[in-house]
Amino acid sequence: GQARHVTARVAPLGTRQVLVLVEDRTRERRVEAIRRDFVANVSHELKTPVGAIRLLAEAVQDASEDPEAVERFAGRMITESDRLSRLVQQIIELSRLQGDNPLDEPSPVPLDSVVATAVDATAIDAQHRGISVVTSGDPGLEVLGNQEQVTVAIGNLVANAVAYSPDRSSVLVATRAHEQSVEISVTDQGIGIPAGEIDRIFERFYRIDPARHRSTGGTGLGLSIVKHVAATHGGDIRVWSVEGQGSTFTLTLPRNHAVRTNQEART
Ligand code: ADP
Repeated sequence: GQARHVTARVAPLGTRQVLVLVEDRTRERRVEAIRRDFVANVSHELKTPVGAIRLLAEAVQDASEDPEAVERFAGRMITESDRLSRLVQQIIELSRLQGDNPLDEPSPVPLDSVVATAVDATAIDAQHRGISVVTSGDPGLEVLGNQEQVTVAIGNLVANAVAYSPDRSSVLVATRAHEQSVEISVTDQGIGIPAGEIDRIFERFYRIDPARHRSTGGTGLGLSIVKHVAATHGGDIRVWSVEGQGSTFTLTLPRNHAVRTNQEART
């Protein structure tokens, strides 16, 4: 759609029209390659849990005389199917995000309630493991963008902080205002990220060796969704981490000034 629009506009310029077309095709080809890669990865990622569930079901059939084994295999089938459904949910989320551009029709996003929703989503898990999730920072801030996307992004950061933390530790969600932007930092006292892996954790499906932590149910998509949301909002995501001590993920998003301006107008 957009490519054709550009071409039509520069049509009278003759030779430049050709140049624009070449650029457009390069981009199209790159997007197409990324899409093909993604589909290949998705197929691979989906086949693994499906294959495991199939094998476990056969094992249950064979072990029908041994109730303890049946119990064990059934437990693993539940774990695998939970992972499968998280995977499907995140793939759907990612492909939905790719469809729309939040800055086409940005709206004010109230950060306090978005953070509350994101924290609530992991509350049961956190409570169960004695992890306290504390929020702090400037109240009343607003981000400019898409509320659903911002909620998903912050939710993924909080969920990771809880997942990669030891029992009875704490997680801090802090918001901070700048002139044009808002920073949301999520700090944990968890296992941290090895320096050599830090560049890769935002890649789709990339997971650091699952053997190093108890949370084996991850999909490797959470942070790639956060990165996508940051990019489409014109913001960014940074990470600071010390292995064995903890991590801080800082999401920067554009700030909405409407509320402040109104208040200033009133006073
Ligand atoms: P996953 O579903 O595996 O959590 P993510 O894309 O959210 O996928 O994260 C990618 C990898 O980065 C994870 O597998 C984990 O090893 C690492 N990671 C993410 N967040 C944290 C964190 N807060 N502390 C330590 N490691 C983390």
